[in-house]
Order: sequence, then structure tokens, then C-alpha cells
Amino acid sequence: MVKWSYADPKMAEQSERVLQMLLHHGYEAYWVGGCVRDELIGRPVHDMDLTTSALPEQMVELFEHTVPTGISHGTITVLLHGYAFEVTTFRIDGTYENHRRPEEVTFVKSVVEDLRRRDFTMNAIARDTRGRYLDPFAGQQDVERGIIRCVGDPEERFEEDALRMVRCIRFASVFDYRVMHNTWKGLLNKRDKLSFVAMERIRVELEKVIAGAHPLKGLELLGRSKLLTYAKAAVDCSRFNRMLVRHMDRIPSVEVHLRWTLLLYSGHFSVAEAEQCLRNWTFTKQDKEQICDILKLDEEIKELINILEANDIGNPDLMKKQRVQWMSLVLKFGIVTAKRWIELHTLISQDEGHEVNEWMKLCSRWNTEMNAFHLKELDITGREVMALSGRAAGPWLGQMLNHLLLQVAVGVISNHKESLIREVERVDNNHG
Ligand code: ATP
Ligand code: MG
Repeated sequence: MVKWSYADPKMAEQSERVLQMLLHHGYEAYWVGGCVRDELIGRPVHDMDLTTSALPEQMVELFEHTVPTGISHGTITVLLHGYAFEVTTFRIDGTYENHRRPEEVTFVKSVVEDLRRRDFTMNAIARDTRGRYLDPFAGQQDVERGIIRCVGDPEERFEEDALRMVRCIRFASVFDYRVMHNTWKGLLNKRDKLSFVAMERIRVELEKVIAGAHPLKGLELLGRSKLLTYAKAAVDCSRFNRMLVRHMDRIPSVEVHLRWTLLLYSGHFSVAEAEQCLRNWTFTKQDKEQICDILKLDEEIKELINILEANDIGNPDLMKKQRVQWMSLVLKFGIVTAKRWIELHTLISQDEGHEVNEWMKLCSRWNTEMNAFHLKELDITGREVMALSGRAAGPWLGQMLNHLLLQVAVGVISNHKESLIREVERVDNNHG
């Protein structure tokens, strides 16, 4: 068995069985692309792609469970013991139109031809079932030196498929590699071709930059190359405030939404602008909401409490009022968003002064003092409230329930049926 130090041993074993099966039937077959590269770099291997001389229909014959993932491009997925492997026939791409990957491909006999069509030398290495690396473009050497280099002539390669320029910056950023001089020069000369590439494909790469280990490096390269000013939804990276963005490295990569919020915050994006921008960048609705909710909370809180300017910590009456206002915002936006907002301002408090930090500590304390977060936690149902008030459902009901929730959250009333009933009656009486 071939030794993989950075791949799940079971996944490696099953993928090797796929390769053996192909070899046994007289085809050539290798591991290729990201998995080989990550093994050489020493990063966790997430999936294992395979390449073979077998044609898709021959693979379908050979394996019991297959999915025709991209038959026209030569790719089928082989399912084996809970693992899925994309197996692609050796191929070269057809003619490139509009600087995008072509729809048509041509199957070829030689693995080296297949490797030649790949973007960077480190992505153009194959590995065989004896563990040997097939590395016609010296990708291993580039990995050792920490270099991103195009396979072949950079200008040609970027001209063919302009997305490769974003991938170039993505890899340099995530791996903290240098871009080889000629490759960088090619990128600068061909950057205007990015306007032909679908925003969705660009967004996928940008997400990897921001979620990666060195997002600042990626932003720096994007800024220096001005690459994104040529995208369909153009972005001028000089807008992002470097002093603020530099804190991004301190946000754990699992908190990727907060990283995006920091980026937009640093560029003084209003909520409306941020929403438009993320929509243009084809972010999903869910991601857009998670990112923009923090900005929304920020806008609302600044209106309500003027928290970032007030120096009234210690004024008891004001504090009481602000505690309630804070808690009502936590109920509105949810505790996750509230915590992210605190994290954002704690991070940048160095730039905004000591007072902000004090406020963030206070907000965190207020969070821990909250007695409820959701309507479903209340010891009373909407139905019960309707029966008590003797009224049909309507907007008043939501208002009443939210009122009860806030009263419970801040600790004015306890979350017991009797006190909740008393509060409903009190409000009803007050409103006649
Ligand atoms: P990741 O680890 O993020 O998946 P990857 O290099 O595996 O990175 P994929 O998009 O999965 O990226 O592509 C698999 C392989 O296909 C790459 O390693 C590369 O060899 C080749 N490839 C992908 N995109 C391109 C492209 N635009 N031009 C040329 N070759 C590409
Ligand atoms: Mg991959």
C-alpha cells in the first residue's frame, strides 16, 4: 500500500483499490491534483482525485457504483465503501472562448499531456500505486521553494482561462507562497480578462482566500494587482482600511463570516451597500445574512445607545436603560450575531480606544445575565395569551410575546406561568 501521511488511511486505501482495478484491466491510473500537492506540502488531504487512460464508459462498466458527474468532461464519480472518488479520463481542453474553460474536451493517451493542461506546477503532479511521483514540470521543487508557477507560458495560460489568476492569488495566500516573477507579470498583463469570468467562480476562490491561513496576504496581492477591479462586479481593494483589516489574522478561520464583516466594515460599507455587494458577488442568502446582520446590529446600536462614544460607564440610570436596549438587540439579532459584534469591536478596540473595550466587556456580561433568548423558552404559549386577552391573533400577539420575552430576559419578571399571566393582564389593563 502506498503511504499517505496526510490523508485518511481508509480513504487512501479505497482510492488505491480503484486505481488497482483500473490497472488490472490494462489502463493507466494515478492520483492527481490537490491530493498529491497537499501530501507534498504537508496539509490535510480532503479528497482524492484520480486520472486514468480509461474512457468514462469503460469506467462505468468496471465499477459497480458510479455517478456520471461530468461524463462529457470525462469525469465520473466512483463510490466505494462510503467514499467518493472523481475519476477523470486523461484529457486536454478544447479551444478556449472568452477566456473561460471550454465546454469541449479531447481525451488523450498520455498522462503528461493531461498534466500539461493543469494550471500550476504544484497541481500538475501525479502519483502512481508504487508511491512514485510523476512530475514533468518540477512541481515538487516549486513546493519546496514555496513558489506558484504556471505550467507553460503564464500569459497564454491566463489568457485561456482568466480564473487561473484568482486561483494563483488564492494559492499564494492560503499556502503563504511567493508568485514567480513571470507568473505575476503574466497576471498583470492579462488581468483585464477577468471580466469574462462568472462572478460565482471568482467568489468561490475569494472565499478560500478569506477562510485561509493568510487572508491578509491574499488581500495584499489582490490590492497590488488590482485584479478585482476587472471583475464583472468590480471591487476596488484600496477601499478596505489596512489598519482595520490587519486584525483579520486574529479571527479564527472558523469565524469566516466575521472575517467578511471586518472586511466590509473596514471599507465603511453601509448595510445596503454590503448587501448589494454580496449579492453581486453571488453569496448565498444565508451567508449574506450572517455577514450583514453584524453590520445591521452595528448600525442599530449606534443609533440606540451611541455606545461607542458615550463615556457614561458608571452612571447607574443610563446603564440600566442601556442594558435593556442591549438585551432587546440580542433578542432581535440572536446571541451568535451579538457575540460576533462584540468580537469585532474587541478586536478593533485598539484603534478605537480603551473605552470601547470596557463597553464590550459590559455587553458580554449583560449576555451572561440574560434569562431567555427565544420565544419558545417562555412558560406561556401564544394560544394561552390569546385566551387570556380574549382576542384573535394579530400583530398585537407578536408584540405581546416579545414584550414578555424582553421582560423575562432582563429579569423584571420571572419565567413562570403565573408571573407571565399577571404581566399579560397588566398590559391589557393599561391599554384598556
Ligand atoms: P482544492 O484543494 O481547493 O480543491 P484543487 O487544486 O484540488 O484545490 P480543484 O478545483 O479541486 O482545485 O481542481 C483539481 C485540479 O484540477 C487542480 O489541482 C488542477 O490540477 C486542475 N485545475 C483546476 N482548475 C483549473 C483551471 N482553472 N485550469 C487548469 N487546471 C485546473
Ligand atoms: Mg480539489
